[in-house]
Amino acid sequence: MTLSRRTLLKTIAAGGAAGAAAAIALPAGAVSAEAPPPVPPDARGLLYDSTLCIGCQTCTVACQRANRMPSEKSVKVINGAPYLFPTDINADCRTVIKLYEKGDRWAFMKMQCMQCLEPSCTKACMLGSMQKRQYGIVTWDPVRCTGCRYCQIACPYEVPKFQWDSPVPMIVKCDLCLARKDGKTGSACAEVCPREAVIAGPREELLATARRRMAASPRKYNPKIFGEHDGGGNQSMLLAPAGVEFTDLGLPALGDVPPSRLAMNIQHTTYKGFIAPAVLYVAAAVAVFRNMRAERKADAAQGGNEEDRP
Ligand code: SF4
Ligand code: SF4
Ligand code: SF4
Repeated sequence: MTLSRRTLLKTIAAGGAAGAAAAIALPAGAVSAEAPPPVPPDARGLLYDSTLCIGCQTCTVACQRANRMPSEKSVKVINGAPYLFPTDINADCRTVIKLYEKGDRWAFMKMQCMQCLEPSCTKACMLGSMQKRQYGIVTWDPVRCTGCRYCQIACPYEVPKFQWDSPVPMIVKCDLCLARKDGKTGSACAEVCPREAVIAGPREELLATARRRMAASPRKYNPKIFGEHDGGGNQSMLLAPAGVEFTDLGLPALGDVPPSRLAMNIQHTTYKGFIAPAVLYVAAAVAVFRNMRAERKADAAQGGNEEDRP
């Protein structure tokens, strides 16, 4: 398995962020790097099919309205005409459509929380504010949040956003519109998409739809369903056009192991038998002892009697 530099840094950062929480929640050696994470029986998510998307951004607008987010204020000029729309997810925007170009190939990409089966954000959250709850949806509880933003650091997709300019800041990310229609059919982005490029539903149904579409037009698609196994698997998944790699769409190359487990394995290896902290402690003690001896010698050279000193 190969890890990109960005993913490796994220993994190490997640390890630091998750350290305290992991130490409390999981004894060393309890994490198996091989076993895939369990899929919640009621797991729901989104399926985004880049081959069907026309980049109209109706989903972005619907998401902002459904979640009572303010309208985007940044202006982008295209062919001389000004457009108001977000260019990335932010504290006011839970989903966005991006256009990626590489050589003569291009594709749209819908970004939002991937609803990971074993999320790094929940592992990093010390007080359990960020958790997988109903339908396996990862939601944020304001009462338990300390504002540490470890979830931001840990997420391999850079999804959670913090409301810096609010007196009562929230962590903002897609929660599959859980509050709308009890989350079952409430995903506003999927409701309005004119092309069924984004659909919502139970994870198993989304996988079946993805496989059906790929089987019907195999030459149209990249043969992989992103999120089926990536990073341990997600509840929100993606299809890309043939010839377009998912890394070309800004997604990290995660392999099949949840990044949080890699981080914990690094920690458990480093701290195995508590050897590293013990070595550091001895080294610090030796340094302190040497400094004290050097100080006493210096005092003695200036005329004091080393033995008379308290
Ligand atoms: S994509 Fe990021 S914020 Fe969403 S569940 Fe996964 S780790 Fe958490
Ligand atoms: S499911 Fe809801 S919160 Fe998530 S991207 Fe779609 S509209 Fe936004
Ligand atoms: S509404 Fe559908 S077609 Fe339009 S940008 Fe969103 S996903 Fe693409």
